[in-house]
Amino acid sequence: MKVLKFGGTSVGSIENIKCVKDIIADGNKKIVVLSAMSGTTNALVNISDLIKNNNIDEALLDVETLYKNYKLVLEELIEEPNLKKDVENYINTVFDFLKDCTSKKHSELLYNKIVSQGELLSTYFFTKYLHQEGVNAQLLPALDFMRIDKMNEPDDFYIQQNLKRIISEALPADIYITQGFICLNAFGKTANLQRGGSDYTATIIGAAVKAEEVQIWTDIDGMHNNDPRFVENTQAISNLSFDEAAELAYFGAKILHPQTVMPAREANIPVRLKNTMDPKSYGTLISKDFKGEGIKAIAAKDGITAIKIKSARMLLAHGFLKKVFEIFEKHETSIDMITTSEVAVSLTIDDDKNLKAIIEELEKFSTVEVDNQQSIICLVGHSVVRHHETHRLFQVLQDISVRMISYGGSNNNISLLVNTNDKITALKQLNSYVFEFTTA
Ligand code: ADP
Ligand code: ASP
Ligand code: MG
Repeated sequence: MKVLKFGGTSVGSIENIKCVKDIIADGNKKIVVLSAMSGTTNALVNISDLIKNNNIDEALLDVETLYKNYKLVLEELIEEPNLKKDVENYINTVFDFLKDCTSKKHSELLYNKIVSQGELLSTYFFTKYLHQEGVNAQLLPALDFMRIDKMNEPDDFYIQQNLKRIISEALPADIYITQGFICLNAFGKTANLQRGGSDYTATIIGAAVKAEEVQIWTDIDGMHNNDPRFVENTQAISNLSFDEAAELAYFGAKILHPQTVMPAREANIPVRLKNTMDPKSYGTLISKDFKGEGIKAIAAKDGITAIKIKSARMLLAHGFLKKVFEIFEKHETSIDMITTSEVAVSLTIDDDKNLKAIIEELEKFSTVEVDNQQSIICLVGHSVVRHHETHRLFQVLQDISVRMISYGGSNNNISLLVNTNDKITALKQLNSYVFEFTTA
């Protein structure tokens, strides 16, 4: 069985929804994971923010605007009167719930419930549309099997057992549709896998059903060798190893949620990235095989905080780094990059929720300097650290102001820390040096 995930753009217009139907209705049994229609989750996050800030009138207006959009989609997509009635009732229930939320006290749970409505709507719509088109499809509610544990990791055993049970209890179907992104937490409350999390849902399900392949269908023909939002003439990469893809996803290649590769790598399930609007193009195949050497792709992750911890007296002293790491551990904050010198250690974090408390503890035995608005630029490729062409990177460094470098921590990754204001220039310069073999 294959698992196919379609992102927001793929279900974001009537035309694309029809493309999705053509891709999946090939008679083979499969599980289809859908995101919310593009723009919906952002709109729901905004509604939640308005409620949080007590802008209730504005929140109600936004709910009304979104409602009208869905009514338009309904008009265009569903013609069969009974199915139309079903979808209309469903839309009304969802939007009555959202209106109701505007009079509730804001909480994390309320946020989670509000943002979950996007995937609930898209999957309901799409299942009914498939019925109208004569496709044998069944909806599997993600909240009946998808759960994370107290560490926010997928609860693999629970997911596998429940998914198996639900499929065996569901009416026989060629296509099982389910929601990406949404799940229950360890306490059985509505939660999610973080923004962009539908990709992760797909590989978690893929591992649970031991799928032969997971396909991530999106609006671009696979993983490109640089960020196409900032750099022109980027190229799709045909093959990536799990390790290479995991590094790119973790360090900012938006096409994949950062954790997507993990379940597939563990279960050795190939992941194919495909373009819904151009299904014939090859895309990218992510598998255990390594193909090619040297720098294959560049990605960047924003929102990084750099922390320099200085302690002339203590850095070389036995146990200093242990003490530093224990503080980050205690505050459940993971470190991405780290460099050391005789007098200081610099490291980066992307979650600054507990930064204040961390600094307070560090300052008990060191001087601390903090720089916000940093970006990690990551150059990825099999054995990139050893490759004879990698020296090109050092030529370009004269033109880029780099705050930290991590070289050799992994054979497949070289990371640079730059000020976010310099990120786009740095990506462009690196592109021309590394892939176009010219000086920018
Ligand atoms: P979906 O809604 O299908 O999940 P996303 O917007 O999350 O789609 O991801 C696809 C987008 O990721 C592309 O349109 C592209 O702009 C962006 N992107 C960023 N880096 C890369 C990259 N290295 N390769 C391909 N796409 C990338
Ligand atoms: N709809 C969610 C989001 O926009 C999840 C996803 O699209 O993968 O973040
Ligand atoms: Mg996405």
